[in-house]
Amino acid sequence: MNSKNKVALVTGASSGIGEAIAQRLFTAGYKVYGTSRRGGVSKNEFEMLPLDVTSDTSIVSAVSDLIRLEGRIDLLINNAGFGTAAAGAEESSIEQAKAIFETNFFGVVRMTKAVVPHMRRRGSGRIINISSVLGFLPMPYGALYCASKHAVEGYSESLDHELRTHGIRVSTIEPAYTRTQFLTSAIAADTPMAEYESVRTHVDAVTKELFAESDDPTVVAEAVLQAATAEHPKLRYTAGKQAKVLSLLRAFAPASAVDAGIRKKLRLHLLPTK
Ligand code: NDP
Repeated sequence: MNSKNKVALVTGASSGIGEAIAQRLFTAGYKVYGTSRRGGVSKNEFEMLPLDVTSDTSIVSAVSDLIRLEGRIDLLINNAGFGTAAAGAEESSIEQAKAIFETNFFGVVRMTKAVVPHMRRRGSGRIINISSVLGFLPMPYGALYCASKHAVEGYSESLDHELRTHGIRVSTIEPAYTRTQFLTSAIAADTPMAEYESVRTHVDAVTKELFAESDDPTVVAEAVLQAATAEHPKLRYTAGKQAKVLSLLRAFAPASAVDAGIRKKLRLHLLPTK
């Protein structure tokens, strides 16, 4: 598909994966508008708009500004999101669980609802949602983040069936660990319990090691460009070698092997159990 003069909107483009995506789309010829909660002047070549994906008012304002400027949105990249530091699932309050979903899942839903009417009217468009390998794998001590990405996967696959009748296709991108500010921005559980203290420390340390050898965000940006420009886009794109291997394991390895593999990777099998 020709990317020249197409208008792309990328949420969470102030750093990491979103910034790399916006820059890659710009160099591929898209007219790119990145967003962040602060908005303001872009340090890159693409434009920046203020947008908070947890606020309907903010989304309506940014999308109408963009429609006023360009008259169209051809490509929406739902990237804004944040992670959680290692914690037992029961260490987060319901309020915190909701806050994680407000950005990582309902942010995608809000953006979709705001942009789809414009795409539907033109009879064309692409929506690309940044999911994760944790959209199809479990994450012990990261259950809520993992659940938010599983929600993105289910929503995206259903939406793709609905919207293709209006000329709009939906894909997800599934990166593994990627070197960004993700760990720095990750939030800690708001109701910590002594029972989880040592495992939290353990999983955080292992996660840091895994991040140290992770992919550059440009790897994810390439996968996004591929999905955005494919004549017949796939529903799911893994980003990077590690994500590809994990996806194949999930699809073809016995469930018991996946279960053991997850525990081994996080070295949970070395911890004492009751
Ligand atoms: P960063 O922390 O580097 O970037 C997060 C971006 O999201 C920032 O631009 C931030 O902008 C924006 N953001 C956060 N909350 C909101 C909000 N409420 N409204 C609008 N923008 C918001 O992390 P990554 O680049 O790593 O993460 C990007 C996406 O990639 C996330 O969805 C994440 O879950 C996913 N992902 C990351 C992986 C990784 O290992 N890094 C692996 C797999 C998936 P600002 O703070 O300026 O508003």
